[in-house]
Amino acid sequence: MRIFSLSALECTKLLAESRLGHLACAKDGQPYVVPIYFAYSDSHLYAFSMPGKKIEWMRANPRVSVFVHRRGRGREWKSVIVDGRYEELPDRIGHKRDRDRAWSLLSRHADWWEPGALKPVTPPLSGHSEHIFFRILVDEISGRQSKEGM
Ligand SMILES: Cc1cc2nc3c(=O)[nH]c(=O)nc-3n(C[C@H](O)[C@H](O)[C@H](O)COP(=O)(O)OP(=O)(O)OC[C@H]3O[C@@H](n4cnc5c(N)ncnc54)[C@H](O)[C@@H]3O)c2cc1C
Repeated sequence: MRIFSLSALECTKLLAESRLGHLACAKDGQPYVVPIYFAYSDSHLYAFSMPGKKIEWMRANPRVSVFVHRRGRGREWKSVIVDGRYEELPDRIGHKRDRDRAWSLLSRHADWWEPGALKPVTPPLSGHSEHIFFRILVDEISGRQSKEGM
């Protein structure tokens, strides 16, 4: 097996063709990683969530990293690591265009909202459950792939 670097174009192609990533954020020196669905467009990864630990942590420290990978034949794989910045898209004037963009990209998949909206504990009926759209601005990107033989 040999390892190769992916070009910037190959990295963005993998992001554009992928949906599942592992989002890492950090607060007070403690990392935290969760799987999330995303949609890539124009140097941003768009995603949806309910309030919780990752949103709280990314609000406190917007520096994040996202790992995306795809298996190939046998032991072959491709992966991309994005270093980027969390940007919340609140339901307010000034963010409507980007929020609509997030919605239209994510809703290309059926039940796109479900993993982000469901929690083990159902919030009280009286509680206001905020729907959060956010995006990660891609600052740095790197990619690698393994190929068998040669
Ligand atoms: C395939 C897949 C796709 C997903 N897509 C999305 C998505 O698009 N958007 C989204 O918001 N969420 C998605 N999730 C769920 C996500 O991984 C988190 O579980 C969820 O968002 C809650 O994260 P939180 O930080 O708000 O945790 P909180 O509800 O605030 O809970 C925090 C506590 O629960 C633990 N915890 C949280 N999630 C997990 C977990 N998955 N496994 C084990 N322990 C956990 C943490 O360690 C922490 O101690 C997806 C999960 C999977 C498996």
